[in-house]
Parts: sequence; structure tokens; C-alpha cells
Amino acid sequence: MCNKHSEIQQNPSHFEGSAEEKVTAQHVQANFMDYIKDMKFFDPHIHMTSRTTDDYQSLADAGVVAIIEPAFWLGQPRTGLATFKDYFSSLVGWERFRSSQFGIKHYCTIGLNSREANNEPLAEQVMEILPLYLYKEGVVGVGEIGFDDQTPAEEKYYRWQLDLAKEANLPVQVHTPHRDKRKGTERSMAIALEHGIAPNMVIIDHNNEETVKSVLDQGFYAAFTIYPFTKMGNERMVEIVKQYGSERIMINSAADWGISDPLAVAKTAALMKMKGISDHDIKMVTYQNAIDAFAQSGQINVEDFENNTVIDQSKTFNGNTILRGGQQPRIDKNAIVIR
Ligand SMILES: [Zn+2]
Repeated sequence: MCNKHSEIQQNPSHFEGSAEEKVTAQHVQANFMDYIKDMKFFDPHIHMTSRTTDDYQSLADAGVVAIIEPAFWLGQPRTGLATFKDYFSSLVGWERFRSSQFGIKHYCTIGLNSREANNEPLAEQVMEILPLYLYKEGVVGVGEIGFDDQTPAEEKYYRWQLDLAKEANLPVQVHTPHRDKRKGTERSMAIALEHGIAPNMVIIDHNNEETVKSVLDQGFYAAFTIYPFTKMGNERMVEIVKQYGSERIMINSAADWGISDPLAVAKTAALMKMKGISDHDIKMVTYQNAIDAFAQSGQINVEDFENNTVIDQSKTFNGNTILRGGQQPRIDKNAIVIR
């Protein structure tokens, strides 16, 4: 997740499971690959800038064929506009290249995150450069934006960015707050509607049992962030799909610089399979719904990742490569990737 706080009240997403659930979690952790053979995944929220090449390799091995990297807070406040520029540029540049070197199609959403919206002098400058990035190829939405502390400044820049999204006809990826989640989620949706944005163009993220019904009832997409399996809470995701079905629901890892698991989507698919969720429903929540939601940007062509991607690690980006001295590049001779 993106904004970390010590939580007085336990976030339902951080729920520690029962002893039995922990045993199941350990089983999934050890054997998830056995359950997901031939499945492919789309993780619509993962911060690869904070992750390693090992993570990219594991994602590829687990069948993650495409990802979305939302612009977010880097863990400490940025002090100037230039670092925002460089960060946004890396999301459409170097990070996309790195991902391609593992056969994973990389998209991003661009936005001013809610935390840094509270630095108004800097936020004003960021707002000026956002349009330069929102119209770039592979940018599939405005995100992640929304509320953190639910301050007036956060509301101001959330509204402003909703207008940018509307103008660019881009989906909106909404971060919902950890504290006062229910109120923050309702407020985020009400404001989006007030700005004339169709609910199907809005992906409300970091849902839990308290928020999902209202989000779905109002026609929005409901995304769920799955925490590391040792933490549990994942069985509750299974229950949500059992209760609400798979329409407009998607799951993500939101893996970042904190303790998180880039394989959370693949592992949850394995757990769903174990628990008797149909292959159709698994596919909807771990792949198809995210594609349908973000393809409304006009920037997603499934042919880019649906079939196996050719990897050529001899390629460079501005002369730079992911290889280190003496390493041999992996070059696929044809379109068949051997995993
Ligand atoms: Zn995030």
C-alpha cells in the first residue's frame, strides 16, 4: 500500500487469520505455482520502481503478463518539481523498459498523490506538468489520487485531477484512506460523480468488506489490495468473490518499498482455485476486469501481452541495459517464451 501509518484500529485488510487459515496460507505460499498453471495475470497496481529484477523474474514465472504502475509517494517527501518530472519520466521510460526485459507489458497511471497534495506550493507546480505526461503512450489513467488525511488541500487537488481525467477521457485510479476508510471512500465517489465522471471510469482501490457493497452498487470498479500471505486476510478475498461474484472486482498487490508481495495476485488466484472459485471468476478478478477498466483509456492493446512476448535482453534504453558486466542476455529466437 502506499501511505503507511501506525493504525490504531486494525485495518480489516491487515486481518490476522485463524490458526487454520495460517496453515492454508503456508500451503499456498509453498505450492501456489501448482494451482495456477496456464493462468495469466494482470496486476493493475504495483510499484516496480521499488522492486528488484528478481521480482520481475518471479512475476513472469508466475504468469503475470502485464502490470500498471501508479505514480505514488516514495516514502519521503519530494522537495522539488524536478524529482516529480524525473519520476514520471521513469514510469514511461526506464521502468517500462526494465519490465519489457522480462516479457511483462508495463503501463502506468500518472497523478499527484494525496500525501504530497498537502505541500501546496509544490502541488501547484506538479499540476502544471501533469498534462505533459497524461497524454503519453501507455498512460492508462490518472492515479493514484484521492484522500489520505482528508484535508482541504487533498480535496482541491483530487477535484482538479478529476477534471484533467475527464478532459483526457482517462480512467481514474482512486487511493482510499486507511483511516476513516468508509467516509473517505464515499466522499471520493460522491466527488467523482459531482464532476460528471461516469462510475465505470473510476477504479476505487484498497476496498474492504465495509466499502465493497456501496462501491459496486454505485457502478464503480472495486479493487482490493492483497497483503503478504503470512499476514492473511486473503481468505476474506475469497469470501468477497463468493458473496459478490466477479463483476467489476479486481485484485492487486500494491507491492512497493514496504513489506509487500509482488506475487499476491498469483497467490490469491491459487487460493481461490483451492477454495473452489470457478476459473471464470478467477480470470475476471485477476486479469479481465482490470483490462476492461483501464482499456477505456484507449492505451491497452491485449495483443501486446496476451500471447507470449519476445524477450531480447540485448536491447538498451538510452544506452543503458539491465545486464551487468559479463552477463549473457536472454534472447528469444522466436515468439515462444520458455518459462
Ligand atoms: Zn500504491
